[in-house]
Amino acid sequence: MSAPFTADVLAIAAHRDDVEQTCGGTLLRMASRGLRTAILDLTRGEAGTRGTAADRAREADEAARILGVGWRRALDLPDGAIQNTYDNRLKIVSVLRELRPRVVILPYWQARHPDHAIVASLGYEACFLSGLAKIDTGTGVPADRSSSVGWQPHRPFKIVYASLYADVRPSFITDITPFIEQRHAALMAYQSQYANQSAGSALFVPEEEIRERTFAEARHYGLLAGVKYGEPFVQKEVGLVDDLTLLPVQSL
Ligand SMILES: [Zn+2]
Repeated sequence: MSAPFTADVLAIAAHRDDVEQTCGGTLLRMASRGLRTAILDLTRGEAGTRGTAADRAREADEAARILGVGWRRALDLPDGAIQNTYDNRLKIVSVLRELRPRVVILPYWQARHPDHAIVASLGYEACFLSGLAKIDTGTGVPADRSSSVGWQPHRPFKIVYASLYADVRPSFITDITPFIEQRHAALMAYQSQYANQSAGSALFVPEEEIRERTFAEARHYGLLAGVKYGEPFVQKEVGLVDDLTLLPVQSL
């Protein structure tokens, strides 16, 4: 029997294609370092103006392949109406206990889209609950997992917030320069959303402009850290430094 898949880094997002926009380059960078990455989308995109949930499922699989993630799944929370309920926390706890990530990426807690803001608190509380031994997710433990570490309590070591959508000063930037084209290809895998078409044309920007906008954002955050392209993150904790002479990002 092969060992169950576990993740070093798990990105949790409201919608399929959120991760591609906010931290896809970071996932590519982690995968290039040999780390195991995973994506949990909480909704299936049934409320979207364009495409069906089935279209988005297919596209999400293709995007995951391009991002080099080893695991991707979508829960069934209602698109556009995600709530931070106990039941929804438990659904995420089941995934945390299965994948046992050291790092969890969540969306930043202030956002234009209410789903994004809710996922920040919903995800945080799920990470907390996941570490409590007496929390029972009610999910039957499959026989082939009964002797494995899965379904045992697990609390991630670190939570970071992808802050690209938020107008907030990041705690740190990841350098995604070598991965920017691949990240773009992952976003463009969502042809039902981003290919030029008449449905929702007043709402969506044209395909050619998506590239310009996303690259400009990445360039902006990259410049803050002295690299070409970057992705911004906020952490609630302070940083800890071992050696002042190895601090990156030049002051002047
Ligand atoms: Zn979204």
